[in-house]
Amino acid sequence: SRKFFVGGNWKCNGTTEEVKKLVTMLNEAEVPSEQDVEVVVSPPFVFLTLVKNLLRPDFQVAAQNCWVRRGGAFTGEISAEMLVNLGISWVIVGHSERRALLNETNDFVADKVDHALSQGLNVIACVGETLEQREAGTTMEVVAAQTGAIADRIMYWDNVVLAYEPVWAIGTGKVATPGQAQEVHFNLRKWLNDNISVQVAESTRIIYGGSVNAANCKELAAQPDVDGFLVGGASLKPEFVEIIKSAT
Ligand code: 13P
Repeated sequence: SRKFFVGGNWKCNGTTEEVKKLVTMLNEAEVPSEQDVEVVVSPPFVFLTLVKNLLRPDFQVAAQNCWVRRGGAFTGEISAEMLVNLGISWVIVGHSERRALLNETNDFVADKVDHALSQGLNVIACVGETLEQREAGTTMEVVAAQTGAIADRIMYWDNVVLAYEPVWAIGTGKVATPGQAQEVHFNLRKWLNDNISVQVAESTRIIYGGSVNAANCKELAAQPDVDGFLVGGASLKPEFVEIIKSAT
């Protein structure tokens, strides 16, 4: 069975003081046991060490990105090896904001996933369609191509969590309905089954992201193929604790 996974993507937000307050809130929260839910928060790079040092040991820390290969003359980039060196165990790769704003392609994202895994990081790999793609009926084609590029590069899925984040639901307040989320998660799992293996399909967590909040998380969490969440805006607020508690 797949352990429920709740990620908090803080994106490009926070001051030192705000980050400390958020960590204190998380540290004081009463949440389900480590056996029932895996909690990973993702602060901006500059706060990774601060959060890693202050955060309760049963929660983990993710970077929001990393460089596609080994480090070197790549001004402004942060390598997977550096994250490992800091004791960071997770990285988010292929977030739609980076795909859209920084032109990250399916192949580039797949190369990043491959390199990050090779260095021992766990990866939250993001896929999702735009509104235009959904309205054109190509949702499954798009997420299959994004997932397929990754599948072409990697051999082992044990350390990968797949995040389905429809672009039209991110930061918009327009959450996917439980039925819409379940449909894509089910089809993604079927894709894993048909193209990789039954074992990978059954064991890989597929989490949902896009306007998740305390009010809508329970119904989403109850869907059989929704194995958790990647939370943006609400992960900066006390309601993130309520979302962690929606673990089923
Ligand atoms: P929101 O929860 O703010 O819609 O963001 C979702 C997201 O992009 C998480 O990675």
